[in-house]
Amino acid sequence: KQRELDGLRDLPAETKDGVRVSLRANIGLLNDVKVALANGAEGVGLYRTEFPYMARKSFPNRVEQYTLYRKILEGFHGHTVAIRTLDIGGDKGLSYFAYPKEDNPFMGWRSIRVSLEEEGIFREQLAGILMASTYGKATIMFPMISSVDEIRTIKRILKEVQNELVQDEKPFDTDIRLGIMVEIPAAVQIADILIKEVDFFSIGTNDLIQYTMAADRNNPKVKKYYDPYHPAVLHSIKQVADAAKKAHKQVSLCGEMAADPVTAVLLLGMGITDFSLSAPYIPLIKQAIRCVDMAEARRIAEHALQMESSSAIREYLEKIKSELG
Ligand code: PEP
Ligand code: MG
Repeated sequence: KQRELDGLRDLPAETKDGVRVSLRANIGLLNDVKVALANGAEGVGLYRTEFPYMARKSFPNRVEQYTLYRKILEGFHGHTVAIRTLDIGGDKGLSYFAYPKEDNPFMGWRSIRVSLEEEGIFREQLAGILMASTYGKATIMFPMISSVDEIRTIKRILKEVQNELVQDEKPFDTDIRLGIMVEIPAAVQIADILIKEVDFFSIGTNDLIQYTMAADRNNPKVKKYYDPYHPAVLHSIKQVADAAKKAHKQVSLCGEMAADPVTAVLLLGMGITDFSLSAPYIPLIKQAIRCVDMAEARRIAEHALQMESSSAIREYLEKIKSELG
């Protein structure tokens, strides 16, 4: 079985009827680059930059970040690497950053909210990404976005950093594409508005499930409420995919949900053809994609989206799984 999966590495992720699917890796540290390539990742759909920050004793400056991001970009030989800006807070802290004690850290001062207030840290990171951007194909992705104002503020800051680099005669990719993570239910509801501001969406189902279901993603006590197959979750994903498609923009999905073969087929049927996942699962998902055609995937998605409960959806997907083999 493993040998069969290994043999898939250089084959395209393509449905039986020739629809090309992009399978990229979620990475965190430089070491993940080899693992991603060994599993046939076509770039990175989510580079969690908080991991290199967490591995240090102080905030990295722009040059330190540029050096690291450049290595990552060069490692992927021109394939896209979506660099996500710092996503700390929730369960991820930095030993050298005095973080306030909060009663509800996942609903608190985290992620882009920190970046927009600690603007110096944010600017340093944006400068580092831009300086590396001529060494490969980088995109910048912003986490935990909930409003159009945040995006506009980000763009203003980015513009200022770009102007500063121009002054310093530092080259950068002037057409760098910008995207946001859609992982807060508020962003789902205004997806049609948000998409106008950016080049792409990346659906972060890990957080989207947590916030849609009001169930902490790390609390085993509420595990049964943290439910990827809840109709509210599936309809949210569909709504975001449709908003992007309508605006002729790209949408990808980078939560753990994409690492399950039958779920990936369901998501494909909902119109998502770009997945980013933990690299070791890529061959498994590729195999599942190569076994279906689009019409079949669409039928599965349409059927699931009409169901009333996650138990019914789960049962249906189990049946599909045994049929697909
Ligand atoms: C997500 O929220 O789905 C996601 C991919 O980001 P993270 O797991 O880093 O929060
Ligand atoms: Mg997230």
